[in-house]
Amino acid sequence: MSAYRHILLGLDLSVESHQVVDRAAALRDAFGSELSVIHVIEPLSFAYGGDIPMDFSGIQEEIHKQARAHMTQLCDPLNIPEKNRHLVVGRPETEIHHVAEEIGADLVVVGSHGRHGLSLLMGSTANGVLHGAKCDVLAVRVKSHDK
Ligand code: AMP
Repeated sequence: MSAYRHILLGLDLSVESHQVVDRAAALRDAFGSELSVIHVIEPLSFAYGGDIPMDFSGIQEEIHKQARAHMTQLCDPLNIPEKNRHLVVGRPETEIHHVAEEIGADLVVVGSHGRHGLSLLMGSTANGVLHGAKCDVLAVRVKSHDK
């Protein structure tokens, strides 16, 4: 079996992100693969629908700026080139699939909290990414900070 050539890492930029980043970087080093990262910003209009006519552009811009800064913080120490950092707007599962195909990723890495009960039934981003993925998906178990 051949090694993975291009790994795409999904980053939610939470405090736990570094656990998934470390694992993806270790895989990159072990396989000699290329590593790309993606963070998907969900538009505020998704959350608030179209019921109230509001202009979110200022807030959205600020969210973008902060996400870019956070991504830089995580990616610079790992020498991930600028062209391999994807910051896009949309739904995480959909955009991760899009970019994975666009760059020809053969492995997608995401974090998983291993939830139980209701939230498991409702699904998680890791589940969403697995369903419909055209390549392998690795769910890295993340430990919550409160445990
Ligand atoms: P969640 O199901 O929201 O706990 O997220 C699980 C994993 O999905 C995270 O560790 C990330 O790898 C990925 N993920 C979640 N949200 C995003 C996002 N907005 N952009 C990119 N990846 C994400």
